Parts: sequence; structure tokens; C-alpha cells
Amino acid sequence: MSPQTALPIAPDAVGWRFDNTYSRLPDALFTAAEPARVAGPKVAVLNHRLASELGLDLTGLSPDAAAALFAGQDLPPGSQPIAQAYAGHQYGGFTVLGDGRAILLGEHRTPSGRLVDVQFKGSGRTRYSRGGDGRAALGPMLREYVISEAMAALGVPTTRSLAVATTGEPVYRTGQKKGAVLTRVAASHVRVGTFEYAARRDPAALRALADYAIDRHYPELADAPQKYLAFLRAVADRQAALVARWQLIGFVHGVMNTDNVAVSGETIDYGPCAFMNAYDPATVFSSIDSGGRYAYGNQPNITQWNLARFAETLLALIAPEPEAAVAAAMEVLNGFPAVFERFWLDGMRAKLGLSSAEAGDAELVHDLLGWMHAARADFTNTFRDLSADGPPAGEKYQTADFGAWHARWVERLAREGRPVAASHALMRSVNPVVIPRNHRVEEALSAAEERDDFTVLERLLEAVSAPFEERAEFAAYREPPADECGYRTFCGT
Ligand code: AMP
Ligand code: MG
Repeated sequence: MSPQTALPIAPDAVGWRFDNTYSRLPDALFTAAEPARVAGPKVAVLNHRLASELGLDLTGLSPDAAAALFAGQDLPPGSQPIAQAYAGHQYGGFTVLGDGRAILLGEHRTPSGRLVDVQFKGSGRTRYSRGGDGRAALGPMLREYVISEAMAALGVPTTRSLAVATTGEPVYRTGQKKGAVLTRVAASHVRVGTFEYAARRDPAALRALADYAIDRHYPELADAPQKYLAFLRAVADRQAALVARWQLIGFVHGVMNTDNVAVSGETIDYGPCAFMNAYDPATVFSSIDSGGRYAYGNQPNITQWNLARFAETLLALIAPEPEAAVAAAMEVLNGFPAVFERFWLDGMRAKLGLSSAEAGDAELVHDLLGWMHAARADFTNTFRDLSADGPPAGEKYQTADFGAWHARWVERLAREGRPVAASHALMRSVNPVVIPRNHRVEEALSAAEERDDFTVLERLLEAVSAPFEERAEFAAYREPPADECGYRTFCGT
């Protein structure tokens, strides 16, 4: 080619830098998969901000090219699509699962050297689809997009959402819905359930998986003594930190099955999740969780239960003698409540403007929560109201009960030995103004699904993108719903 010849536009003008590290693991852990052909791909929403963090440039793509890419019609160069095998305990019962409606394209290397999974969700059947169609409906994919991006803005470890494209094809759930594909970006999709699968398949696959997860997420443990025990402890610590963050912002995951627990410590698989309005530990949003297994107040306990399932898979790697392995694992598991409590109480102290620690702090927090529960006070707004300079305004704060608690808190703040304004500034940096409240999410999804109107969604995304800032134009997003009786998200995602 002469120097004058125009170079063809490189196929990776977007900036993809794919590797396929998961595909080099033992065959038992995945199978090849192909995204389905679809009739009419169209971009619904694109995350340009995330794209640039990943070193990708989507601005040069034509609408057709972007639609073909994000509906899985035109695969990025270097990708090698597979479906991952996994199992999981769902509502307590063990099942073999796998990516039934997701396809991993491989791992993209970001400019900072981070390796991230790029996955399509809703792109058609795989070896693991069982009776399912492998597809996803637009509403649930937009729900994951909004809530995952809101969580990221809140500073909570989470998978991210790069795009949603509609397929131009119907999917059949409760009635006919528009089909869609979500492009999800994650530290990885290795789950507790992946370990449960590998442990039951063969020891070689299990060890390879453990080494892979350590290398990707806990490289500092590569040469640690008792490496696999250290790995268990590190995963338990990250889960404790993660679920403490959920509790601190009133997030209810909704389906904490072990296949929905990422070993990286990211929040993953947004289904019937939602943010709590009025404080109530019994808050449940999933329509099928009638027993309240995954209620807000139960999330720390369930995390410990899930970690016990994880620990079981590692026993053979932890020590050759079962008794020794069990004893070592039990020590980690039994330590979980204290580790969780430390993350939670540190976070709660910050929410109350405390940078020092005193013995009575936990009681101070629990008494506030007790008052909130009795008063049906909004969780998010109460903490934000307390963050304002001056006494909190509002009728519910004028009661004797609240007054007594407030006086104790004011005394406690005085013992911080710094101006109260500094405490309030700390509070405003951790207590969000805007969360993606259920009624706002539903309003945005209905507009998109029923009227093809994505402006409501775009505005909600803007509102949740800077959750700690008080912006007058988004004041309405602070309001809890007038009536949330019976609010349920549906698991038919
Ligand atoms: P989830 O509720 O998204 O955590 O999914 C639980 C399991 O069901 C996973 O193995 C999914 O791949 C599978 N699954 C969910 N929806 C479908 C579907 N429409 N087709 C095939 N498999 C599905
Ligand atoms: Mg799942």
C-alpha cells in the first residue's frame, strides 16, 4: 500500500482492546456462544461517560453501527463470545445454572490497565438456557442500567452499563414486551455460584478458577501463605464492605442468590432491586420473596450464609485434612458479623458527622433508626435533613421523641472537638440527596416502553449522576412517593 492510499477505518476505531482470559480456563467452565440475529436493532441509551473511562469512543459510530454493535450483530474485534457455566443456591436450594441469556465477549483492557468483562445480557439462547428464550425485555434492562449507574455515582462497587439496544423483536413475559440487549461491564462475572459449579465438576477446574480470581481481583495474595484461606477472608471482607454500603444507602438487592454474588465484591444482577423509602428493616420488593429472605434487614445475614456456601467450595484447597479446613473456614465465617459491623458503624458515624469513635455510637445510631421506623421517616431524607446547618425542618421532627434523640446527638457532636459545620460538610458528602426512587424508575421505564419516550429516563439519569449535590432543578426527585403500598418489582426479568 502506498503512503498516499487512505487507510481503511480500523475496525477497532472504537478503541476495543480485547483479551480472552476466561476462554483459557478449563473447558468445563464455559461454552462457545453466538449472539442471536435480530430484526431491527436500535440504540436506546448509550453511556458516553463510561465509554471514555474505558478508553472507548462511541461518538464516531453511526446510529446503525452503534445499534449493530450493541445488539450483538457486529462483534468487536478480538472478542470471542462464550457463555459461562455456574451453579447457585436460589432461595436456599442448589441448582445448576449458567449464562442462559448472557454472553461474555471477553475482557477489554482499559487505558489504566484494568481488565473488564464486556457482556451482553438478553442476546439469545446458549447451552445453559434450559427452557428460556435467552432474551430480555426493555424495561428490566433499562432498570439495571439506571440503578447500576446510580450505584456507581453513589460510590458503591457495581457492574456498569454501557448501552441498551432494542432488538426490534418481541419477547413474551406477562404479555408481549419489546426485546432488548444490555451491554454490561464488570470487574468480572465470577460468582460464588461459579465456584459451586467448579467444585462439583472437578478439582483441576476449581483450582484454576481460584487462581484466576485471585490473579484478577486479589493479586496481592498470589504469594500469600495459606493463599486460598486468605482468598476466602478477602472475599468475605469485600462482601462485608459492599453490603454495609447497601445498608447505608437503603439499597435492597432483592435476589441475593449465590449466583448473584460476585467474587470481585461488586454489586451484580439488578433484578427486583429498589431503594427503601420509609425506614423499615422488613422492606422487600421482590414479588416472589414472600418469606422476606432477602429483606433489607436480612442482607448481612444472607451474605454470611452465601459466604458459607463459598467457603464449602474452597475446603479442599484450604487444607488436605477436612477438619483443619473446616476449622479455618469457620473462623473466617464466624468473624464476618464483627467485620460487617465495623464497616457499617464507620459508615453510620460518617452519616451522623462523626469522625471519632465512642462506645455509645452504635446505640445512638440504633435509637435514630428506631425512631425512623416508628415515625415511618424516609431513610434518605432524614439523614440529609440532619446534614443541613441548623435544626432539621419538618413536622415529624417536632416530637418529644425526636427532640430527645437530637439533644443527645448535638452533645455527641460537641465532643468531636471541631466546628459543627465540619461535621455537616462530612454528612453532606455521604448522605445522598437523590436516589433512584422506585416510582421515578417506573415512570421512566413506562415512558420508554409504552411511548418510546426516553427523555424521562435521560432526565432521571442526570438526576442520579450527582447524588450528593443539591440542585434545584432536580428537587422533585427527592420526594418519596405519595403512596407506596404494595410496591413490587417483578422477577420476570
Ligand atoms: P437471574 O434471575 O438473571 O439472576 O437469572 C437466573 C438464571 O436464569 C441464570 O442462569 C439466567 O441465565 C437464567 N435466565 C434468566 N432469564 C432467562 C431467559 N430468558 N432465558 C434463559 N435463561 C434465563
Ligand atoms: Mg443472576
